[in-house]
Amino acid sequence: MGLRTGEQYVEGIKYRQHAAIYVMGKRVTDVTTSPFLKPSVLAFKATFDAAFEEDTRELARTYSPIIGEEVNRFNSLHTGPQDLVAKVKLLRKLSHKTGACFQRCVGWDALNTLYIVTKKLAEKGKKAYHDNFMKYVADVQRKDLALAGAMTDVKGVRTLRPSEQPNPDAYVHVVEERDDGIIVRGAKANITGAAVVDEVIVMPTRAMTEKDEAYAVSFAIPLDSPGVKVIVGRQLNDARRLEGGDIDGLPYMFNHEGLIVFEDVFVPWERVFLYRDWREAGVLVEIFSSYHRQGYAGCKSGLGDVVIGAAYNLAKQIGIADKPHVQEKLTEMVFLNETMYSAGLAASWEGRKLADGPGGFWVNPMFANVTKHLVTRFPYEIARLSHDIAGGILGTAPSEFDLKNPEIRQLVEKYLQGVPEFTAEARLRMIRLLENVSISAGYLIESVHGAGSPQAQRISMQRLYDFEIAESIAKYLARLGARPADKRVEPHKKSDAER
Ligand code: SF4
Ligand code: FE
Repeated sequence: MGLRTGEQYVEGIKYRQHAAIYVMGKRVTDVTTSPFLKPSVLAFKATFDAAFEEDTRELARTYSPIIGEEVNRFNSLHTGPQDLVAKVKLLRKLSHKTGACFQRCVGWDALNTLYIVTKKLAEKGKKAYHDNFMKYVADVQRKDLALAGAMTDVKGVRTLRPSEQPNPDAYVHVVEERDDGIIVRGAKANITGAAVVDEVIVMPTRAMTEKDEAYAVSFAIPLDSPGVKVIVGRQLNDARRLEGGDIDGLPYMFNHEGLIVFEDVFVPWERVFLYRDWREAGVLVEIFSSYHRQGYAGCKSGLGDVVIGAAYNLAKQIGIADKPHVQEKLTEMVFLNETMYSAGLAASWEGRKLADGPGGFWVNPMFANVTKHLVTRFPYEIARLSHDIAGGILGTAPSEFDLKNPEIRQLVEKYLQGVPEFTAEARLRMIRLLENVSISAGYLIESVHGAGSPQAQRISMQRLYDFEIAESIAKYLARLGARPADKRVEPHKKSDAER
């Protein structure tokens, strides 16, 4: 099949046998009709619809040499820089359709990571994991499955290794080996899209030592496996989607994150991609996090476009769009937004091949880290500038139900209007859109912590930059040393994944 429609995706996740999904303390059996989760279903659905919509059809599809068919790009493996560029562009464009995180990229990055990691293991003589993975990815592509990637463990005491934790389940680990598979226990936290996917790919979250080998495990299972529980997290303004209106909760597409708990879940051997090879865990994390850091250039700049567009429209609505100080602010927003995007394109064009075959093209790790580090800051500044332009009403506007109440409707219409060609409803709609996008978990908190908190990028950048080379350049120019004979243009060291 290779390509499912959005409707087919929704039908596919409608009824789950086992997966126990909890929202605000209550069990949800059908996520597609749950008012709380429906916005996430719609945002995820957009990634399927994109393959059939005229403006994204080409970007959202690609040929897979693995199954010899066109597949949804979200399930594809990268073979060259053009694939990584297409990823960033697709993500930017999809943000324009959703105004929210559409949640599907984590699983995509997990597939690309596991291709490389299992291939490297195969080259060292351990072929089984790569065989497992290739069968799995073919199945994912054929069925066009919706995947979540689950990396972050709950981590317990941060200074202790997995095997040293007072709570032995603070990191997901294997508790039993059987002839037909393994039994896993633990929980993964902050998992994007957790409740609205077909399957979840679990990966280790940090470098490990030999003592942690039971924790060095990667596998994929249907969300609907016995013993899986999802506890969905809350976000600011999330109750607005329960109110039944059509303005206050705009854009009515959102992402959710959740805790996925594995209570002694059985995983058949053919779905295991890494186990006990603790040396690979650190490299896996590096490859995955760099992929995901590159991706943020796309989705966050796309949300930036939404914020810039909303601020521009609100400025027009009150007649200040051509004022020099507003123009200044809009230009600054553009500059910040395009900087994040450009860094992601650089990370893509300057990528490198880590493994042969129908996948294995990786990002430039330095530029991917730079991209994500910009993303930890710039959305906050873009949001601040948009709030500056929008005015205090962004925090004080009446509800849509005031506008709908005949007793006060005329008053709201009269006093919410600015320039007469715009209606009060147009103003309220744009205010709500700006509020819900620019102050969302997806645009702000996720920008800081998703794909690794700021400190993780600083550590990576520091490790990747070759200060010795830079010093030798300076020493040469200061006539304190010979001219460095290094061919490299950028003074960057090889990452662990490249060694
Ligand atoms: Fe995709 Fe961005 Fe959401 Fe990550 S934050 S899943 S890259 S849309
Ligand atoms: Fe994310």
